[in-house]
Amino acid sequence: MDKYDVIVVGCGPGGAIAGKTAAEKGLKTLILERGRKPGEKNVSGCGLSPKCWRDFPFMKELDLPNMRVAEMATAHFVDKHNKELINMSFSPSESAEYEEARKFLTTNVYRSELDPWLASLAVEMGAELRTSTLATGMLKSDRGKILGIILEDGTKLSADVVIGADGIISTTAISAGLRNRWEAYETGLIIQYDYKATREKIDEVIGSNALHYWYSATFPVAYTFFNANGFHAGLGGFLEWWDKSPLYYLDTFLQVEGIQRQIRLTEAKPREYQAHMLPFLSRPGKTYADNLMLVGDAAGFACPLEAEGVYYAMLSGKIAAEVGADSISSGDTSELKLVDYEKRWKNSPIGDEFEAGPEISNFLRDLAFNPKPGEWITPFLNDVMFGICNVANSHVANWRDMESELYKYSPYLLDVLLRDFLPIIGAINKPHSKEISRPLKWIGNKFGSFLLPRIARRIGSQKDLPLDAMRFLIEQFVEPLIEARMDSRYFKERGGK
Ligand SMILES: Cc1cc2nc3c(=O)[nH]c(=O)nc-3n(C[C@H](O)[C@H](O)[C@H](O)COP(=O)(O)OP(=O)(O)OC[C@H]3O[C@@H](n4cnc5c(N)ncnc54)[C@H](O)[C@@H]3O)c2cc1C
Repeated sequence: MDKYDVIVVGCGPGGAIAGKTAAEKGLKTLILERGRKPGEKNVSGCGLSPKCWRDFPFMKELDLPNMRVAEMATAHFVDKHNKELINMSFSPSESAEYEEARKFLTTNVYRSELDPWLASLAVEMGAELRTSTLATGMLKSDRGKILGIILEDGTKLSADVVIGADGIISTTAISAGLRNRWEAYETGLIIQYDYKATREKIDEVIGSNALHYWYSATFPVAYTFFNANGFHAGLGGFLEWWDKSPLYYLDTFLQVEGIQRQIRLTEAKPREYQAHMLPFLSRPGKTYADNLMLVGDAAGFACPLEAEGVYYAMLSGKIAAEVGADSISSGDTSELKLVDYEKRWKNSPIGDEFEAGPEISNFLRDLAFNPKPGEWITPFLNDVMFGICNVANSHVANWRDMESELYKYSPYLLDVLLRDFLPIIGAINKPHSKEISRPLKWIGNKFGSFLLPRIARRIGSQKDLPLDAMRFLIEQFVEPLIEARMDSRYFKERGGK
């Protein structure tokens, strides 16, 4: 039986970086990939964030044939008639912390180009890569301890440490007994068309405004991400959400005039229809066992808000290989030692992303993956801009009317603020310095989620309530309740002082 120090299952970004790091540490490393070449079976947006450049110096060498740097992004807002009413663009801020973050928002690539490049880095470091090789289960001792991997053809391979980098439907996670499949409410289904177009046309029509987000009352949040010679137009939602065929929503999205224009002007032709799932967890579960660690999507590490997963797969791959090397050299690869992996990822940007995981999941469920609020969010944003800028009347007259015009949105705004935004702020902040009485804490914790939206709706629906009175009510009743809720939640989740 072939014996390795480390076997990595899967050669996506997580597996490639785990393999590269392990080989760099001098470990005998094997990477198994079911595709005929890395990236063959992988589907992504795929916008790489500047963090990849910040944390992985080799990324400075990335020069793929069809990558496109996005120096600007545009958010489009579509109303219930499938008509775009307003859009806004943004660019990197000069105050961003490091050079790449000041230069671009993402660098868009194809997985069919990125994955082979990352894999080549691992091979250069000495890792062995076996493609067209499917891992079907774990080699285990009589007592169930993981000893290696079993392949589709029955071949057994032994390893001191196995790194499961095999994506969302992770055979390693399931056969190691770390979990079953993700539940439908924690799994996203993303579908997209891949269009081809010439580089010249995309340069001319899109340039570096290469990320377009589409928020609508008629379909869940969608995107068009442009590469050098084509683009992806897709959308997604939790598996449990779809009340109609996902294709119905994708087609509705593609009917929006702005998309039609992008397709027409770039003379784009559909190249492929793609569907893929990815984890949308509020908190990852256990990611290690005796002799095993899970990385990337297999561990559920895609960011809970935007599903950015490539960077988190790379980062977790690196951490897992470092912990693996450490544990092999200490002669202890049991879970008592590999718990270091969990400690390290929790202390990294991965752990940060999940600090407000449950609150972000709610936000996604309420607002991003749910088109319904688009019925007021799109006209609200438009009415604000219209109120400020329109020339149908004198500006002063417009501005005088604006307050009452926008008043009708206040119940919705308060609802969203209380239900979706404040819980996120509460989760990422330290407890409030204000002393909160015990009964209020109790009420806030027990009834906050029930009472707050109702109070918000009641206040917001009082059309004739003067703003001062509204402010007074919010300050006196709503804010203390929110604070109480946050405070109790903080103490509850962290086990008290
Ligand atoms: C439509 C879509 C758009 C996305 N857009 C973005 C984006 O713009 N930016 C971003 O950062 N992230 C994006 N993501 C998320 C990102 O693609 C994933 O989080 C990331 O690919 C995870 O990397 P990974 O290495 O963990 O897993 P994967 O990329 O899934 O790689 C797993 C690898 O394991 C192989 N494998 C699986 N099972 C076995 C087995 N049993 N034996 C051998 N090999 C096996 C697979 O063939 C694959 O190569 C998107 C995801 C989707 C679905």
